[in-house]
Amino acid sequence: MKPSRFEYYAPQSLDEALVLLDRFAGDARILAGGQSLVPLMNMRLARPQRIVDINRVAELDYIRINDDYISIGALTRHRAIEQSQTVFTACPLLSKAAGFVGHPQVRSRGTIGGSLAHADPAAEYPVILAALDGEIKLRSIRSERIIGWRRFFVSDYATDAEPDEIVVEVRLPRPRGSTACEFLELSRRHGDFALVEAAVQIEFDEKKKCSRVAIGLGGVGGMPLRASLSEEILQGKFPGKDIIREAALAAVENLDPVSDVHASAAYRKQMVSLLVSRALERATGLCSVKEA
Ligand code: FAD
Repeated sequence: MKPSRFEYYAPQSLDEALVLLDRFAGDARILAGGQSLVPLMNMRLARPQRIVDINRVAELDYIRINDDYISIGALTRHRAIEQSQTVFTACPLLSKAAGFVGHPQVRSRGTIGGSLAHADPAAEYPVILAALDGEIKLRSIRSERIIGWRRFFVSDYATDAEPDEIVVEVRLPRPRGSTACEFLELSRRHGDFALVEAAVQIEFDEKKKCSRVAIGLGGVGGMPLRASLSEEILQGKFPGKDIIREAALAAVENLDPVSDVHASAAYRKQMVSLLVSRALERATGLCSVKEA
C-alpha cells in the first residue's frame, strides 16, 4: 500500500499554488485533507506525477457570512463546519450534514473543497449544495468564476473544474424568515458512506405555509438531485401529515438508482421516500429555526 513516486510541492499562498498548477499543465493533483486522494494513491488507483499540497494556504480556511449567503473557504475542515456556531445559525442544514461525514478522524482532516472536488455521489455536501442552490468559486491563474451546483457536478467523481483550477470557496444562500430543516441518511454502519440521503429545508410565510421548499437527494444517481415534484406539492401549503406523505411518495418519481452490493434500486427508492417523509416531519415538528 505505497503510492508511486511523485514530486511534492507545498505552496504558502493561493497565488503560489495557482502558478504551480499552471506550470504543470494538468500533470499535478491538489492535496487537501488527503482523505480520498491518499487512499487512491496508496492503492495506485491514482498515480499523480506531482502533488500540490494546499494545507499551508491559510487564506482558504474561513467561514464568513453576509446578509445573503454564507461563504466557506475550500480548506475548511469538516470538523470546523460541524462545530461552527456561525454555520449552525446561518446554515443549519449544512451544520447537520457535516456531522454525518465519516468518522471524527476523517472530519478532522477532510475539507469541504476536497469533498466537492472529489464529487462522490454518496457524499453529504453535494446534496446540501443541491438543496440550497449553492455555488462554487473556482480560481486559476487565468480567471476566477462562480458556477452553480448543476454545472459544477458533471457525473460521479467528475466536475466542471479544469486541471489548473482550485475550488476556493463554497457559497450557500442564507434562509429567509422562519425556516426549518433536516438532514437524514441511511448507511450500513455509523460513519459509512450513505446508501441514500435526504436534505430538506422549508421557509415559511407569515401564515405558516411553505413559501420555499428545497429537497436534495443523494445516493440515487451519479450526482445530487432535487426532488422537484415533491417541492411543488408542498409549495404554498401547510405541511400536514397527508401532504408530507404525498410529497414523500413523489420524491421517487423519475429516480433511477443503481442496484449494487449495498442495496437494490427498489430498496433505495423505498428508503428515499421514507427519509424524505421523516425529514419533512422532523423539520416541521422539531427543527424550527428562527432568523438569526
Ligand atoms: P483530498 O483527499 O485531499 O482530495 C480529494 C480530491 O479533490 C483530489 O482529487 C484532489 O486533487 C481534489 N481537491 C482537493 N481540494 C481541492 C480544491 N480546493 N480544489 C480542487 N481540487 C481539490 N466523505 C463523505 O462525504 N461522507 C462520508 O461518510 C465519508 N466517509 C469517509 C470514511 C473514510 C474512512 C474516509 C477515509 C473518507 C471518508 N469520506 C467521506 C471522504 C472525506 O469526506 C474526504 O474528506 C473528502 O472526500 C475529500 O476531502 P479532502 O480534503 O480529504 O480531499
